[in-house]
Amino acid sequence: MTSLRTASRSAALLLLALVASACGTTNVNYVTGEEQRGAYTWAQEVQLGTEADQQIQAQFGVYDDPALTAYVERVAADVLQTSAYNDPSTPAEIRNTPFYFRVLDSPVVNAFALPGGFIYVTRGLLAYLENEAQLAVVLGHEIGHVLGRHSSEQAARAQLSQFGLLGAAVLGGVVGGGQVAEGILNYGGTGLQLLQLKYGRGAEREADQAGVAYAEFAGYDATEASRFFISLQRLGERSGQSVPNFLSTHPDPGERAQTIPQLAAQYDPGGTEVDAAQYLAEIEGIILGEDPRQGYTEGNTFYHPELRFAFDYPRGWQTQNSPSAFLMGEPNGAAVMQLTLASESSAAAAGRALASQQGVQVQSSGAIRVNGNTAYRVEGAAQQQSGAVAFSATFIEYGGNVYQLLGLTAPNSFSRYASAFRSTAGSFEQLNDSRYLNRQPSRLEVMTAPSGATLQSLLQGRTLPNGLSAEEVAIMNQTELTARLPNGVRVKLPE
Ligand SMILES: [Zn+2]
Repeated sequence: MTSLRTASRSAALLLLALVASACGTTNVNYVTGEEQRGAYTWAQEVQLGTEADQQIQAQFGVYDDPALTAYVERVAADVLQTSAYNDPSTPAEIRNTPFYFRVLDSPVVNAFALPGGFIYVTRGLLAYLENEAQLAVVLGHEIGHVLGRHSSEQAARAQLSQFGLLGAAVLGGVVGGGQVAEGILNYGGTGLQLLQLKYGRGAEREADQAGVAYAEFAGYDATEASRFFISLQRLGERSGQSVPNFLSTHPDPGERAQTIPQLAAQYDPGGTEVDAAQYLAEIEGIILGEDPRQGYTEGNTFYHPELRFAFDYPRGWQTQNSPSAFLMGEPNGAAVMQLTLASESSAAAAGRALASQQGVQVQSSGAIRVNGNTAYRVEGAAQQQSGAVAFSATFIEYGGNVYQLLGLTAPNSFSRYASAFRSTAGSFEQLNDSRYLNRQPSRLEVMTAPSGATLQSLLQGRTLPNGLSAEEVAIMNQTELTARLPNGVRVKLPE
């Protein structure tokens, strides 16, 4: 939650309009050069990607490191130049479309693409790669999804009816199965809906083939990527249900660790560049794990040091923080709360705007004070597609912003959760304690392993950041925690 932006609704409507009008177009797949079914023309793909890109940036935040971004863009440009993008037989419409490569400020290990040339890697993924060759294959894979027009193909296959369900699926995934909050939280914008569209296995294999080919043509040793896929497999085995998108939508990483070298062997003489030293120098200093500057939880309190506030949420509730929202969910999904920024300039105006929304019936509303701050509370019920929901919304003016704390549950559960909603909002207060205000993120340090060292021995005396275990540091280094490190090898550690 760096800056808390309000999400736009227009993109979701646009998506539905496009799907409705464009089902059944025939597309050229520029990876294979063959025709395939597709929901969108290329111009529509670019339009969709452009809209969704705004939401992705708002949702995840862009990692603020111009040098690192320039480095990723340089590697990506090299790979893109060797791809079908640059082939003389590819139409000018495609070759003239700018491709964007962004580093997202998320500790989750992930890479993905949106139609029309928008490609993302997370800082979490960059920390888990060991060299430039691995990065080149990942970028080539995502370029393959864009040029193969796999979103368009998948949207045509999924048809209109499934699109309506995707927003709910996103929210359910976030807070754990509660349907009550669908719609009013409006959490699943187009970008997130597109991410929920899983490509078929065929599309994934094609993207792997493209990634290996483009990386090899750019001079890289693509077999390097198989070590990264073994890391992904180890991460997947650890993370259980919270498997990141990059893992869940792809073929079994163990299988890919086998097939990548086979694919690479087709390019003979193959690329030789690995560029580990250069790569590690570029990512040194990157933030590891969660960044407390953007808000963090401790006990059952949410602290935001940059925006200088804190509040308590109900004990045992699950939470998820993002640049645009902080979500809290009762473990069984029976109630959810969300902190966002309201777009109105006062608490009263924001409260009245909610109360006047179509389908909202107000039970009570009025001005209140929350720990000395001007506030406004609206409670009532709202009609959703999935049925009625009861809500308690508190708007608080603080630090030049209007914060919205919205609690939702089924109407017959409102009496049970109303006091939790009110007391969560009522605990919102200014944060003055320097112990919480000064919390700094952990950063990646690259060091040469002394002889005889293991990662376990090197981690002694170092503090692991939130969301990163010792085993994960081993996976990050593509080795075992207790394995003797080769003499002089460079390792990645939390500073
Ligand atoms: Zn993929």
